[in-house]
Amino acid sequence: MAKQDDLFKNVVSHAKEYGFIFPSSEIYDGLSAVYDYAQNGVELKKNIREYWWKAMVQMHENIVGIDASIFMHPTTWKASGHVDAFSDPLIDNKDSKKRYRADVLIEDYAEKINIKAQKEIEKAKGRFGEVFNEQEFVTTNERVKGYLEQKNAILQRMARSLENDDLADVKALIEELGIACPESGSKNWTEVRQFNLMFATKLGASADTAMDLYLRPETAQGIFVNFLNVQKTGRMKIPFGIAQTGKAFRNEIVARQFIFRMREFEQMEMQFFVKPGEEIKWYEYWKETRLNWHKSLGLGAENYRFHDHEKLAHYANAAADIEFNFPFGFKELEGIHSRTDFDLKAHEEFSGKKLQFFDNDTNSSYVPYVVETSVGLDRMFLAVFSKALQEETLEDGSTRTVLRLPSVLAPTKAAVLPLIKRDGLPEVAKEIIEELKWDFNVSYDEKDAVGRRYRRQDALGTPFCITVDHQTLEDKTVTIRHRDSMQQDRVAITELKNIISNEVAMRNWLMRM
Ligand code: ATP
Repeated sequence: MAKQDDLFKNVVSHAKEYGFIFPSSEIYDGLSAVYDYAQNGVELKKNIREYWWKAMVQMHENIVGIDASIFMHPTTWKASGHVDAFSDPLIDNKDSKKRYRADVLIEDYAEKINIKAQKEIEKAKGRFGEVFNEQEFVTTNERVKGYLEQKNAILQRMARSLENDDLADVKALIEELGIACPESGSKNWTEVRQFNLMFATKLGASADTAMDLYLRPETAQGIFVNFLNVQKTGRMKIPFGIAQTGKAFRNEIVARQFIFRMREFEQMEMQFFVKPGEEIKWYEYWKETRLNWHKSLGLGAENYRFHDHEKLAHYANAAADIEFNFPFGFKELEGIHSRTDFDLKAHEEFSGKKLQFFDNDTNSSYVPYVVETSVGLDRMFLAVFSKALQEETLEDGSTRTVLRLPSVLAPTKAAVLPLIKRDGLPEVAKEIIEELKWDFNVSYDEKDAVGRRYRRQDALGTPFCITVDHQTLEDKTVTIRHRDSMQQDRVAITELKNIISNEVAMRNWLMRM
């Protein structure tokens, strides 16, 4: 655990030191769970957004994008169920005065049991070697079976209690399991209560005519209310999708994990409208497709896993998370939900307008079913950033910090460095920048010895350093240094664009999907 904590601390401090993420309004001591993206962070975030948009919109003929407003008519949130049901069960520890999500306390407990089972499996794998049959082991080894059954029983009971709104049983479960406050070790808990996560605000000048509004807690509803507008004006045929990226706001009960859980965050969502009865096929398709998108970034397939939901939200008939191995363990990165016709039907009912698709083939109308993919942009940032940050011991025994960002996402693609600050080298370096900047984000650095400049760029995740030296003046060649291998090649200036492009082009990365 200590190692994990250290890694996480490194991530937070590196993000600040190298201009990726700052605490919001830091001169006033910050605002809890609110963060600002800095000069490099904003580029990385933009690149992740673009990587998603290209994969979802540009590469799918039947998916289009929109950009709906954050404010929506307040009835939207009545219809969607958020006013009545968008809440988390909270519990306070009476001694430490710390507040927790009751479901998260129980899930963390269950995960500890799961980890015990996984350790046994790993040990057995080592013992049996090639002949190891995991499926058989898991179903026959008494100890592992016991752990897994125990874990499932806990999660199932929690799911049932939450579904039945039996908060007393959620508390009883916490007590039976002997779950203690992670901060203080105390088991002195309050009752469990539901807490609505939406931020309310007002629209209008005078107090009596002002209208109560909410900051949207998800971008999805902006898509549902525009379903028919897009379908008609875009002449879309089912199945088709509408994608959107944008801010969402949740008054999270516990927000202590940097940009993993923020009160203002960004989502990248796509709602896919399908014929009723075909939703499970599409749900499976999108689970697979989204996992492949994540894997295409090369952060390691072992860092992803599916978690199928025991407890389904009020709108879903199937749901799974893609979980990622964050510095604090496997947690939700993306949700894939089969939302049925719940949302469109509810909006029909509350608005009195039809939200149906007319099927020319059958000459009849129906309310489509919806499969949603929803990934947090900030969580995606944290996933990429935390996996990329590495401390490396080099052959000569020295260490370097390197941010091995997938080069397609790197904020700066190349840094151009004159070996020394005179003899006309800076001028040539700047000429190279003038040429490359049409295609790539590039930077110039002439301060300090070249070795230190390399290290600085390694820490920023820049895939290439291009060094201009005296030979450049003679034969128009430069050295190009690769961030990950540190290999240096001598190449003609005219080749640079191709070399960089080959490595960073989205096309080449997305083709791995
Ligand atoms: P969690 O269980 O972690 O609270 P959720 O199931 O409520 O998440 P969804 O409503 O499915 O999340 O939202 C879709 C995605 O939006 C999540 O997978 C996550 O990546 C992102 N997300 C949700 N809440 C936050 C938050 N407070 N901060 C950052 N990202 C978030």
